[in-house]
Amino acid sequence: MSVRRVLIVGGGIGGLSAAIALRRTGVEVELIEKSAEWTVYGVGIIQPGNALRALDQLGLAEQCAAQGYPMCGVRSLTADGETVLRDDTLPSVIPGLPPNNGITRRRLHDILVSAAREVGTDIRAGVTASTVDQTPDEVHVGFSDGRQGSYDLVVGADGLYSRLREQLFGSHLKAKFTGQVAWRINLPRIPELDRLWVYRGSRGTAGFVPLAPDLMYMLTIEKVPDGAPVQLPQEGLAAEYRNRLAEYGGAVAEHRELVRDDAEIVYRPVDNILLPEPWYRGRVLLIGDAAHGTSPHCGQGGAQAIEDGVVLAEEVTAHESVEQVLDGFMRRRFERCKTVVEGSERIGRWEQDHSLDIDPDAAAYEVTMAAMAPL
Ligand SMILES: Cc1cc2nc3c(=O)[nH]c(=O)nc-3n(C[C@H](O)[C@H](O)[C@H](O)COP(=O)(O)OP(=O)(O)OC[C@H]3O[C@@H](n4cnc5c(N)ncnc54)[C@H](O)[C@@H]3O)c2cc1C
Repeated sequence: MSVRRVLIVGGGIGGLSAAIALRRTGVEVELIEKSAEWTVYGVGIIQPGNALRALDQLGLAEQCAAQGYPMCGVRSLTADGETVLRDDTLPSVIPGLPPNNGITRRRLHDILVSAAREVGTDIRAGVTASTVDQTPDEVHVGFSDGRQGSYDLVVGADGLYSRLREQLFGSHLKAKFTGQVAWRINLPRIPELDRLWVYRGSRGTAGFVPLAPDLMYMLTIEKVPDGAPVQLPQEGLAAEYRNRLAEYGGAVAEHRELVRDDAEIVYRPVDNILLPEPWYRGRVLLIGDAAHGTSPHCGQGGAQAIEDGVVLAEEVTAHESVEQVLDGFMRRRFERCKTVVEGSERIGRWEQDHSLDIDPDAAAYEVTMAAMAPL
């Protein structure tokens, strides 16, 4: 193996998964994380079957399932909640594990951090890379804490607004606003919620994701109403979220009344990016949202970030040269992630304008088929 020493920049889902996967193959791994507190926000995440499959390769799928809540499929309903449009029960990708899993982001973070430490990742939080200089043989990095290091490969997993991407590829390639915003809040689980429920509204969707026996989160993705600002202050979010849910009936209308605490709401514009291939310059590779940040319509962003880590480690063990590793990685990752980002974006465009010639179910099916295909 020509890759023996790796620096990972960013301790999110992608960076931690890559650290675990690479360490398990015997590569020396350092990981730096910008945030000294290194906390993640409190709502949840859907782990589709391909995320569980990739986590299984890291030895972590069972832990995630045990600490999450099984989701056996997807039910979509009209906005008023009166009519079930589809009710699909999905097969498990990994026998013995649920088809999908809902889990809080904090639990997932704890599982990944513990595993990364256990396999011997050298982790430093509150640190960034100040300088990144390459020769044909290695990458020299100067850190914000004054230290320096040399690596065979640097992996940029610093998220949708990646600084490394800007340094390597220029500031013109940045995440762009999709026209939609996302609202999320944790609530007590509806007892019969055993799958994703999605209500189709006029400007987007509202839905519920189970996270634990006593917990679920409500997620709304919507086009910003005409004339309304995209950025909103935390103060006043609860009242505004209740307003935005006005068109929904059924369980959404019932749970709308529980939205009272501004501080509990996670609100953000939905941005996305698909970096043109290749996602590397020399010996620095971007993975996860830094390279292929998707809108959340298919619940695939985190799943693809985990897959990146698994595939990178496989390519590192399979090849002698860094060029072959990076080329092999791109051949396995680009089209798959492109299908996810573009398919999810198509669904979002249709949600914003139902007159567009887009079949959202067909787009979701295409993304699911690509994501469930063998790695
Ligand atoms: C509304 C919404 C719902 C979603 N739902 C789902 C879902 O159900 N299922 C799913 O699979 N995905 C979902 N996603 C997507 C998922 O959250 C992301 O794809 C995933 O978090 C990407 O992981 P990442 O590690 O690439 O980036 P991030 O999670 O953003 O992690 C990047 C890390 O790098 C750190 N960092 C940033 N800059 C630096 C720097 N300069 N130096 C060092 N560290 C740095 C950050 O602090 C952070 O810890 C959703 C996204 C949104 C917005």
